[in-house]
Amino acid sequence: MPKVCRWMRWKPLLCYAKHPQCCCWSSRAGHVTQTLHILQCLAVPTEHVVRCAAQYSGRTTMRPVNRIAILPLFLTAVSAASTLFKGGTVIAFNKQTQGLQVIRDGAVLVEDDRITGVFDSTPTRVPPRTEVVDITGKIITPGFIDTHRHGWQTVFKTMASNTSLLEFFGRYSSFVAPFFWNATDIYDSQLAGLYEALNAGVTTSLDHATHTWSKDAADAGLQACIDSGARVFWGFTFANITGLITVEQLYPVFRTMAAKPGLRNSPTTLGIAYDGWGPNPNVGEIDKIMALARELKVSVITTHSLQGPWGYIHALNYLNISIPIVFSHASFLTPTGASLLRSTNQYISITPESEMHYGQTHPVAYSIQDQASLGIDTHITFSTDILTQARIWLQQARYERYLDVLEQGQLPASNPMSVEQAFLLATRNGALALRRGDDLGGIFVGGKADLVIWDGNSPAMLGWVDPVAAVILHASVGDIEAVLVDGKWVKRGGKLVARGWPDARARFLRTARRLQAVWKGMPLPEAPPEFNGSPVVHPERVDVLRGPGDGYGSVYL
Ligand SMILES: [Zn+2]
Repeated sequence: MPKVCRWMRWKPLLCYAKHPQCCCWSSRAGHVTQTLHILQCLAVPTEHVVRCAAQYSGRTTMRPVNRIAILPLFLTAVSAASTLFKGGTVIAFNKQTQGLQVIRDGAVLVEDDRITGVFDSTPTRVPPRTEVVDITGKIITPGFIDTHRHGWQTVFKTMASNTSLLEFFGRYSSFVAPFFWNATDIYDSQLAGLYEALNAGVTTSLDHATHTWSKDAADAGLQACIDSGARVFWGFTFANITGLITVEQLYPVFRTMAAKPGLRNSPTTLGIAYDGWGPNPNVGEIDKIMALARELKVSVITTHSLQGPWGYIHALNYLNISIPIVFSHASFLTPTGASLLRSTNQYISITPESEMHYGQTHPVAYSIQDQASLGIDTHITFSTDILTQARIWLQQARYERYLDVLEQGQLPASNPMSVEQAFLLATRNGALALRRGDDLGGIFVGGKADLVIWDGNSPAMLGWVDPVAAVILHASVGDIEAVLVDGKWVKRGGKLVARGWPDARARFLRTARRLQAVWKGMPLPEAPPEFNGSPVVHPERVDVLRGPGDGYGSVYL
């Protein structure tokens, strides 16, 4: 009978938080520890951690990241200096009305990276050598904007399908991966994840990049963003990881990222991700990070939040600043918090599927949708497309608002949320959250040419009358025929056309299979009795079987 570590049995998550790659969690051969081991675990954490990680990974020495430099693949997307899309239905954005404008049999002219014309009929004069693309019967929309993502984790796809949030932290987060991943792994995983997003019409992502645990690791993820051709607001994460790196050590790494060749000529920009705002903030650390943010003119700051650190940030005079701050989830936003966000024009990122999957929930987010955008979060556990998020959120918001009426013994006379509102959340509001409403999130003259073309004759969309409803309620990623970012084709004819995609796919599969094999060997963690002062309990399971058993089944790794 295997000996089971008491620490593991009772406090796995807390143990994990201190010693993320402790063999209590990761021993393939079973739970090995006993009293002596527990004492080691507690008393000499760093040595224990190093030994366990080396033992588990079969390495004789610890090697958190590979020092092999990432060679940029220069996966340049196919470019066209000037393109006219004619004959299609354009879902444009009208800046005067701040609403959508549907133009049937319209046209969109793209020159270099910009939309230079939106027409209600095919123009007779276009620039010389313009490529004319007939999109009759199709729908052209802006690309979707995802304001919360952890793109580097793509190799874990389908492995965490039934996890809780605590299990996720303990098994798939940046507290575990550094001891098994090298820089090349991050590059391959991040790049494949971005291609997945581009294929799904997500042209802009705010990436809360938690893989910045070393210079090589950070550089690899950023290089993948640049090579992908996607528009990534790359949020370099400042976080202490026990036994690996401190925030203090990350300051020079961040400066290196800001000076990275290739960043200047890419749609990708440098941002900051930081979760240490409160309730016991390290003010000196925050001041240093914010000084860096201002000096290096970062494009965005982002943070996870449930109960809301905006009060702490505001108290430090960092909420009302020119840099956008995006708060992911904000599940339990208070009226005071909502007021602060509105008065400082800072946005939340609602991640509908994530908040349902993991249980952060979103009980009050309906009331601040005017200051909200949509995000995905951990795309390894569910859909990577903002279209699905918009659809789920639309119906969830309707459900909640209907419930308000039904609970009063009344009946709803109208529908509380429209498909246009869902469309705006998925496009325009993302741009506003990033303070890029002048050039992102819509089809209008002067905007960036981030575009999606939908096959209006697919079985799902055939017969549409309202193009907004056709996209939001009937289409799927399979109906996306083409995608452009910055005026460059990244998907065309239903397929990714980036020159490096076939090679990236092969590399990713090799990397994924190797790392997945490691994770398959890890025992699933047990829940701790409490976490951060709250009891941890199992929710009642759903029962889908008649009679005995509930049909819960397993994960099939
Ligand atoms: Zn997240």
